[in-house]
Amino acid sequence: MRENPEKLKIIRKPVSLQKFSKKILSSGKSIGLVPTMGALHRGHASLIEMSAKNNDITIVSIFVNPTQFGANEDFAKYPRRLRADLKLCREAGATIVFAPQPKDMYPLPLSTFVHNPKLETLYCGAYRPIHFAGVLSVVAKLFNIALPTKAYFGEKDFQQLHLIRRMAVDLNFPVNVVGAKTIREKSGLAMSSRNEYMSAEERAAASSIYVGMCEAKRLLRRGETSVVKLKEAVRGIVEWAGGKIQYVEIVNKGDLTPMTGKISKKAVILLACFFGKTRLIDHLEL
Ligand code: AMP
Repeated sequence: MRENPEKLKIIRKPVSLQKFSKKILSSGKSIGLVPTMGALHRGHASLIEMSAKNNDITIVSIFVNPTQFGANEDFAKYPRRLRADLKLCREAGATIVFAPQPKDMYPLPLSTFVHNPKLETLYCGAYRPIHFAGVLSVVAKLFNIALPTKAYFGEKDFQQLHLIRRMAVDLNFPVNVVGAKTIREKSGLAMSSRNEYMSAEERAAASSIYVGMCEAKRLLRRGETSVVKLKEAVRGIVEWAGGKIQYVEIVNKGDLTPMTGKISKKAVILLACFFGKTRLIDHLEL
C-alpha cells in the first residue's frame, strides 16, 4: 500500500463535495470515485489503490445506504467504524473521504428512483426486491455529487457492477465505470464486510463456495458442458459444508441472461447462500 503524502480530508455535506469536485475538474484534474459502505478491507483497498494510481484525486465514499436494505435485513447491525476506515483510505492513497449522514443524502424521502426492471428482479434481486433500485439510485446521486471521471466497483458484486455499467451507458453519465477483480482470503472466501458476522467455523465452511465453483470450472475443462450438472456440482459441495444455497445460476457474461442446456458463450457462475445467518454472494468466470 502507498502512503499518500497529502493529508486525507473528510467531507460530510453533498454540496461541499460537489463544489470541491467542480473546482478539481475545472483545473483539468481527474477524479476517481470508490463508493463503499465502510468496514473496509483489502478488497476495498485494491479499488482505492487502483483509483489513486490512475487519477489525480481519489474520493472514497463511506455511506451505509438505507434505501438498499430490506425491512428485515442488516442495516442496523451493519459494521460502522470510521476511524479504522480512514486509516485504510489514507494508506491506500485516497485524497478525500466523503462520509455523509443519511439526512444529508436524503433531506426528503427519495421519490425518484433509477430502475432496471428486467435485471433488478433476477438473481439477488429475486430475494432482495428493493435492493438494486436503492443501489442504482444512490450511485446516481454519488455520480452527481462527486462528479467522477472514473468510478471503481468490485466484480465481487457481479450483478451490481453490470447494472451500474448499464445505468452509466443508458443515462449518459460522463463517467468511466471500472470493474476490479475479487480479492479473496487465503481460503478462497471472497472478502466481505459481512464475513465478520460469521463464527470461525462458519467462516471456514464458507470457503466451500470457492471450492465448489472451482470444481465446476474443473469439470467444464474436462468436458462437462451441462449447465444443470455444473450447477449441481457447486450446490453439492456448498451444501455438504453446511451452506444453504439461495440460488446458483450460470449466466451469460455479456448480458447476464441465464444459460440452460449446454454452456455456450462466456459463462459466469453466480450464487448466493447462507452460512448460519450470514448471506454471502460470489461468482466465478468459467
Ligand atoms: P461494499 O462496501 O460492500 O458496498 O463494497 C464497496 C465496493 O467494494 C463494491 O464495488 C464492491 O464490489 C467492492 N468489493 C467488496 N468486496 C470486494 C472484494 N473482496 N474484492 C474486490 N472488491 C470488493
